[in-house]
Amino acid sequence: MKKGLSRRNLFKYMGVGGATAVVAGCEKKPEKLIPMLVPPTDYEYTPQTAYQYMTTCRECDAACGMMVTTREHRAQKAEGNPNHPVNQGALCARGQASLQTLYNPNRHAHPLADGKQIPWEEGMQQFSAIIQAASGAIAYLGKPASGSEGDFVDEWLQAAGGGQRFKFNLLTQKSQAEANKIAFDHADVPEYAFEKAGVVFNFSTDFLENWGNPVENARRFTDMHVYKNGRKNKFIHISPQVSLTGAKADRWIVINPGTEGLVALAIASVIQKENGTYKFLKKYLQAYSPEKVAEATGVSAEILSELAIDAMEHGPLLALGGGNVSATDQSVETLVAVNILNAVSGALNKTILFSDQTAPESSTHQDLTQLISDLNAGKIKLLIVDDSNPVYALPPSMGFLQAMKKVFVVSLASQKSETTHAANLVLPALTAYESWGDAFPRNGVRSIQQPVMSTVNMFDARAREDILLSVAQSVNKKAFSGNSSYLDYLQNIWQKIQRKVGDRRNFDSFWISVLENGGIFEKPKFIRASLNRRVASVKLNDPGMAGSDGLTLLPTTSLLLGDGSGANKPWLQEVPDPMSQIVWDSWMEINPDTAQKLGINDRAIVEVSTPYGSVQATAYYHFGIHRNAIAIPMGQGHQHSGDVADGFGINVMELLPDQMDKAGSLVFVGAKAKLKLINEKSYTVNTDGNARQL
Ligand code: SF4
Repeated sequence: MKKGLSRRNLFKYMGVGGATAVVAGCEKKPEKLIPMLVPPTDYEYTPQTAYQYMTTCRECDAACGMMVTTREHRAQKAEGNPNHPVNQGALCARGQASLQTLYNPNRHAHPLADGKQIPWEEGMQQFSAIIQAASGAIAYLGKPASGSEGDFVDEWLQAAGGGQRFKFNLLTQKSQAEANKIAFDHADVPEYAFEKAGVVFNFSTDFLENWGNPVENARRFTDMHVYKNGRKNKFIHISPQVSLTGAKADRWIVINPGTEGLVALAIASVIQKENGTYKFLKKYLQAYSPEKVAEATGVSAEILSELAIDAMEHGPLLALGGGNVSATDQSVETLVAVNILNAVSGALNKTILFSDQTAPESSTHQDLTQLISDLNAGKIKLLIVDDSNPVYALPPSMGFLQAMKKVFVVSLASQKSETTHAANLVLPALTAYESWGDAFPRNGVRSIQQPVMSTVNMFDARAREDILLSVAQSVNKKAFSGNSSYLDYLQNIWQKIQRKVGDRRNFDSFWISVLENGGIFEKPKFIRASLNRRVASVKLNDPGMAGSDGLTLLPTTSLLLGDGSGANKPWLQEVPDPMSQIVWDSWMEINPDTAQKLGINDRAIVEVSTPYGSVQATAYYHFGIHRNAIAIPMGQGHQHSGDVADGFGINVMELLPDQMDKAGSLVFVGAKAKLKLINEKSYTVNTDGNARQL
């Protein structure tokens, strides 16, 4: 924990939205926080009565349905929308803590020009003037949009004179979509029917933490793994590291870093030889037989064959691949290998279900590299960063911050961040709890986002889309004709949806039912997929990461902090990491055997250096990691994201190269780290005590 965060302040942050009395008792200036909970007077409500509103969680791309309980027109609790087919009433910790985006003292309260408070009129005038001066040399960088917002921003860019939209998601599933395109001609991410599987092979994904929709995965996985009808299905974790997901496994197969694909092909080769399917793969798979890949993977031929027998005897199999820990420069090839395993084992169309939908949008790392190059070359005059934090999230080796300083940057954001700190003009945006939107995360699921309460008055913010709409109309009289707000735009879209789904009610009745349900939910329509012969030309090499030239760095995603956007929420900082039990800090997982050889004690402070940077972190002994690897979770190490986030832990992205795989996605695994002992003891706080207490 950093110095300077007093216990009093900690109570202050923890209490907002939950324990006002504690705040009032501890804080010297309660008037700074209390107004957030003081109900507005311009709305009708029955005092003491709880109202529930259905909306959508916007903390990650999964877009779960959310039910928010309000009293006196103030949101007090976030739960899952029971009507929503994907999360079915559940919500992860990040979703529940999203309430703290609303009552966060580190929200932007006023428009800022070069860090100084200005009135809204002046901010909008500056925005309008720079759009006109940019003459179409505009780049818009925001989160990928699964709902109507993508089309809205594209239309906005046209109205503003032109420009390009970048869909920024650090943890994109682009490589997976590319591998699915190669293997199945579907550049999409399928649905994973855990409940239909007899055995799950997990190739390093953290499906209970961040991969895909962790809330849905947890529900379906529980259904698969629970003891029923006298038996329990098998879950085998195949990875160089045991994550929270891996800790649930019946068996952990420790593999050399970066060899998930080779293991998948070895298992597939045994199964194909046995069942004789996909004859065109026979020769291809012979090159990856258990005997041939045993040394590279670090797994004996006997164990690889045992896994194949498990898949054949206990199937249907569900093999999962992807996520940070396997994101090497061969991640597309690795995911194709997992697809081959699913196909030869008969899992395709049983536990792997594709539907007829377009792939989730996302720009590649390559696109962002091009953006940086265009910023440096002066081809872009205005950069708009909408609700994203690329300055923190991208490896500094990419040079995003330096490039961004060469142009005028407008930031639309509700929360302080490293990116808003570096922006020329910050226009404070409302949170998802206070504004309209929608999300269509998968085929048949259209989820609405509605304001569940009136805005918190002490934050003088506006809806992001309304800011854009208003400024577009100031520079182009024809822009968004007939729309005076984003709600108008959204309702036009939903009128089309109403016609598409064949609802014959008048629009008002339809709209009310959408708001009551949280959206429109239809059954997904699955389509059959088949394995493409071109997979036989995809080659996988031994990545050679288990060598003695340093330890392979595995940057892992944090269950609580995600890509770092959760770090400004005290509830998430305070929850102990389920594996390390550490709070408010970062750590470096290291195998005790390796650590002792290097003379590093548990909880010592260690300098971790790669060719791209160095950081100091607390060593955390973990038997669940390969002896030639270390793991550091993402999410901490902020500098300009407010009191709750700043100064805690380190940002592992500082250690990564600017490198991409064949899908253009960022390579997370490949850097080799060297360690140096700095101090025998650290002051990292963990909730499971320490060895001296035993
Ligand atoms: S997975 Fe969690 S953070 Fe993501 S949308 Fe669902 S509840 Fe929100």
